[in-house]
Amino acid sequence: MNHMEKILNYIGGEFFPPAADKWIENVNPSLGKVYGLIPESSKSDVDKAVDAAYLAFPTWSETPASERARLMNKIADLMERDLQILAEMESTDSGKPLHVSLTVDIPRAISNIRFFAGAIQHFASESHAMEGVAVNYTLRQPVGIAACISPWNLPLYLFTWKIAPAFATGNTVVAKPSELTPATAYHFARLCAEAGLPPGVLNIIHGTGGSAGSAMVEHPLVKLISFTGGTRTGEIIAASAAPKFKKLSLELGGKNATLIFEDCDFEETVSEAARAAFSNQGQICLCGSRILIQRSIYNRFRDAFVEKVRKLKTGNPFERSSNLGAVVSEGHMNKVLSYIDLAREEGGAVLTGGNRVFPDGCEGGYFIEPTVIEGLDASCRVNREEIFGPVVTLIPFDTEDDAVEIANGTDYGLAFSVWTTNVKRAHKLAARLKTGIVWINCWMLRDLRTPFGGVKNSGVGREGGWEALRFFTEAKNVCIKY
Ligand code: NDP
Repeated sequence: MNHMEKILNYIGGEFFPPAADKWIENVNPSLGKVYGLIPESSKSDVDKAVDAAYLAFPTWSETPASERARLMNKIADLMERDLQILAEMESTDSGKPLHVSLTVDIPRAISNIRFFAGAIQHFASESHAMEGVAVNYTLRQPVGIAACISPWNLPLYLFTWKIAPAFATGNTVVAKPSELTPATAYHFARLCAEAGLPPGVLNIIHGTGGSAGSAMVEHPLVKLISFTGGTRTGEIIAASAAPKFKKLSLELGGKNATLIFEDCDFEETVSEAARAAFSNQGQICLCGSRILIQRSIYNRFRDAFVEKVRKLKTGNPFERSSNLGAVVSEGHMNKVLSYIDLAREEGGAVLTGGNRVFPDGCEGGYFIEPTVIEGLDASCRVNREEIFGPVVTLIPFDTEDDAVEIANGTDYGLAFSVWTTNVKRAHKLAARLKTGIVWINCWMLRDLRTPFGGVKNSGVGREGGWEALRFFTEAKNVCIKY
């Protein structure tokens, strides 16, 4: 994006500035500099987008799935053509290393579109015969207008994770990316227009959650809300949606545990635990931010882990040698640093990292060293609250029961990983851990057909695969008497 380029809302197939002509500065977090403006949209912009979605719904919902899929695959082709452009936008907007955007974020966003374009053509419903009396079948119909609200950590990936199943199933969509990372959603809108997606099928509103986001959630014509973001915001959205009986899917925060047993494959576990902790600067809801280690290997693991982490380079996201880039904003950097201070107050010892860093050429950016802390009680705030940055704690345990108790001991339950070569233990733990996902001897190995979501304060509902197609449709029972 050129210096100070303005991002526009995408409504009814056209691009518009916000009705009130109010704008928010878009900051490049690796330089700490404003480089663009985005609409600070208000209720009137949202109303216009919902009107466009409403007008588009009757035709889109009756468009054959094969045609919807054809258009989606065309959008995916254009994303592939613009892979480099999208990846550079993502890294400029969010501070993440370019090689991560190029190999993870944008390819996975493309996979989301292609996956749901394929899945909708294989989606089937049940029938139930009442012998000699009647037959029932289930019609799966689109819900109407879907509001899709996504966060800043995996901007285009999580944006497409929602909108792809939403419009594959015949809904029309009003979507809002995070105000901190709007650029790839803007370019995506251009690609949808180029691909010939009918006007109004997808409308993208930019702005803050408090204004544009809440207007989307509260709009009476919006019948379904898919939200990924913080637990506190999820509470606000649920409180607003519940009395209006809207369908709701909430993918919220996490405080995930990495459970390491003495019989693990040691070298692989050290390396993967570091990847789970510090990928995307620790800003993935799935990151393993509490590493639980069996006491018999605690010292050996700690020393190897710290040595590995010390080799990770935090620097300019556009340099290939950088393992970690900037965190997303100054406010978020200060929040993460305040948790490192809190860890010291709670009696923790910082084994490596712990500071803001000022890489060459990016001195004004928001960079934090990967930080490893030990000596904290499992029940202290740092071990219970989501930090969402490059900070990990090490906690020893003695028995399998202790490990389960510590892992399950927070208000969250999103994604845990277990590292052991004992098959019996792996299966037993998978059943006992209170979480939406358990990875055994791997982390973030994703198959788009699997259910995705959390328990407890990590969310309500499941997306992914058939779960997403079910969520974005209403099941209607049709009963025919013989
Ligand atoms: P937020 O909850 O702050 O924001 C998420 C989105 O919601 C943004 O687009 C935001 O807008 C919008 N929003 C904020 N307030 C409202 C409101 N009242 N009504 C409607 N929309 C609103 O989360 P973050 O962006 O800070 O993302 C980080 C969080 O996301 C972490 O807690 C992380 O764990 C979670 N997450 C969960 C995942 C999961 O699958 N479970 C995956 C990835 C992240 P804006 O920011 O523009 O104001």
